Amino acid sequence: MMIRADICIIGGGIVGLATAYRFSKKFPEKTIFIIEKENRLAAHQTGRNSGVLHSGIYYKPGSLKAKNCRLGKKAMEQFCGEHGIDYELCGKVIVATNKGETERLGAIFERGKANGVNCEIISGERLREIEPHAAGLEAIHVPECGIVNYEQVCQKLGELLTKGSSHQIHLGEKVLEIESSKDGLIVQTTELSICCQRLINCAGLHSDRLTKLGGQTPEAKIIPFKGEYYFLSKDAEKFCNHLIYPVPDPKFPFPRSTFYPHD
Ligand SMILES: Cc1cc2nc3c(=O)[nH]c(=O)nc-3n(C[C@H](O)[C@H](O)[C@H](O)COP(=O)(O)OP(=O)(O)OC[C@H]3O[C@@H](n4cnc5c(N)ncnc54)[C@H](O)[C@@H]3O)c2cc1C
Repeated sequence: MMIRADICIIGGGIVGLATAYRFSKKFPEKTIFIIEKENRLAAHQTGRNSGVLHSGIYYKPGSLKAKNCRLGKKAMEQFCGEHGIDYELCGKVIVATNKGETERLGAIFERGKANGVNCEIISGERLREIEPHAAGLEAIHVPECGIVNYEQVCQKLGELLTKGSSHQIHLGEKVLEIESSKDGLIVQTTELSICCQRLINCAGLHSDRLTKLGGQTPEAKIIPFKGEYYFLSKDAEKFCNHLIYPVPDPKFPFPRSTFYPHD
């Protein structure tokens, strides 16, 4: 059986849900479907990240990343405030442990200032006062950085989207095929055939594959990295007051491409 939506969004992570929510406000007469292959929302990057509300300190002033990060943080805090989702502005320190890093720290600080981030350079002594178990020559202190549970944010977005509306979230439905027809785009999932007028690809680390599935050539290629997390035990949590970061090292690909200094 064919079901119909005006707008279909692939991906039930934060990008898909926030996009759907924003569209639902902008075009209240349109019906929106979210298609997610897992049996719950936020099952991938969104539910497995560090939960940081980034301040935008690293990004090139005037760049889209810098502007969106500043606007996005403010919007997220407002959203959480309005909908009773806890977030904590615990602050962050970026710690330089050698002379080379103190020079790079200065460049990051200048960027932060240019981006309107509330931050200051602090001495090693001051660092020890506010973060007794971190050692460094100097640090940048960013009091406005925070943490939030993005899974909770997604649950709330899903709830707001579907409550009393014609919008639908289809979990456990993997998009397998995308075809054009005279009525619109036909999206074939595990169990459903959906006809829609607009299809938005928010498939995260699969978004290049979905672009190909839709018969287009992706401009970007996803290059996956595998990482591992360590959690502090409950007893050890008291040893950290802030988010504690090293100065990004341009030798390593992840911070280099994402954060510093050639973005
Ligand atoms: C290790 C790590 C730490 C991070 N830390 C932070 C942080 O602290 N703060 C921060 O702001 N950002 C952080 N990020 C970045 C942030 O998590 C991502 O930018 C964000 O979650 C991306 O959201 P998304 O919705 O695009 O992707 P995802 O959350 O990955 O969602 C994409 C969804 O698409 C679905 N999907 C894929 N293919 C199909 C298909 N064929 N059919 C149906 N559904 C499909 C997937 O199942 C998935 O649920 C981090 C990222 C990583 C990897």
